[in-house]
Amino acid sequence: MLLENNLTQAKNGDKIDALGYAVAHKNDTFKPFSFKRHAMGENDILVEILYAGICHSDIHSARSEWKEGIYPMVPGHEIAGRVVAVGNKVSRFKIGDYAGVGCMVNSCGACEACKISHEQFCENGKVVFTYDCLDCFHENTPTYGGYSNNIVVHEHFAVNVPQNAPLDKVAPLLCAGITTYSPLKFSKVKKGDKVAVAGFGGLGVMALKYALYLGAEVSIFARNDIKKNEALRLGAKALYANTKTCKERFDFIISTIPTAYNVNNYIALLRYGGEMAIVGLPPVEDKIQIDLTKLVFTAGKKVYGSLIGGMQETQEMLNISVQNKIYPETEIIGINDINIAYQNLTSGKAKFRYVIDMSSLKA
Ligand code: NDP
Ligand code: ZN
Ligand code: ZN
Repeated sequence: MLLENNLTQAKNGDKIDALGYAVAHKNDTFKPFSFKRHAMGENDILVEILYAGICHSDIHSARSEWKEGIYPMVPGHEIAGRVVAVGNKVSRFKIGDYAGVGCMVNSCGACEACKISHEQFCENGKVVFTYDCLDCFHENTPTYGGYSNNIVVHEHFAVNVPQNAPLDKVAPLLCAGITTYSPLKFSKVKKGDKVAVAGFGGLGVMALKYALYLGAEVSIFARNDIKKNEALRLGAKALYANTKTCKERFDFIISTIPTAYNVNNYIALLRYGGEMAIVGLPPVEDKIQIDLTKLVFTAGKKVYGSLIGGMQETQEMLNISVQNKIYPETEIIGINDINIAYQNLTSGKAKFRYVIDMSSLKA
């Protein structure tokens, strides 16, 4: 019934009814929430969401850990589903295709960054994030994410997903996948390189798998050794529960840590010329600082931040992942379990990626 209504709305150019789970403020728990999505434009597709991953960024955002959030908030930017309607000018999708939607739904398309498909760095400040953002292309209305039954998105911001791909595994690629793939590529990690992955959750697992795919030797840093057997089973060389016990030096380190930690202990483990990509973004109140004195006196190490990846690179990552069956470690949950999942993700009880099966969302 819901879908039928949506199809009629899409055809008539009306706003699209949507149902999701939202928090009303930063200390709230998730509850059902009905809202409207903007009407379909000629370049838009309407996607029926089948699976949505839970990224730790969703938790940071829902709890206003980076900035004051826009509420009610429906998080979710690891979205996989089926195209159910297409605008007149859509060329890359037809009804029935699978599509993935990640962290962005629009940008200016005209600036230098957009022109080279680095849309996340749109120089006109017009990148529209999938949720917790005011959409400058639609009267500054708030965007709502993937913990919901549908999404309307400009086709440029959706990736093509082959029909044979397992959609529940594809969903987390749209953020965890691209965010780890992109810096590994940027730093040109290659066969024989020594790589370390700090933080072994949703992103950490993907970093391990892509680094192994590139032929690197990979060690994991975690805050305890609970996941040691998992790390070894998945191909890691070692798991360290403490940087101080590590005598190795690395060509490349990626930090996916979402909590307060001493970043300088990791920089110290880079070899001369080694590179460290920081993707984990702990709450601002943690005030993590790079020690400049240490950085200068042990010079020759390159430290940089990395933000998801552009749309072209996201499609490339998806194709490589599907072709080589590089998928996340997932646990499928019902939409009523989001609150428990959030608790587990912050208390260290979660294993890797929770993925919401959207068929559990009932009107
Ligand atoms: P998860 O919660 O799935 O994983 C985080 C992992 O880090 C957990 O395994 C956790 O351990 C571990 N961890 C926590 N504290 C420490 C510590 N002090 N030392 C070592 N390990 C630690 O989170 P995600 O992988 O989804 O996200 C990770 C971070 O990346 C978040 O800050 C998120 O916002 C950010 N992010 C950034 C993006 C970007 O574009 N830059 C895009 C996507 C996410 P335990 O198992 O014990 O809980
Ligand atoms: Zn994310
Ligand atoms: Zn732009």
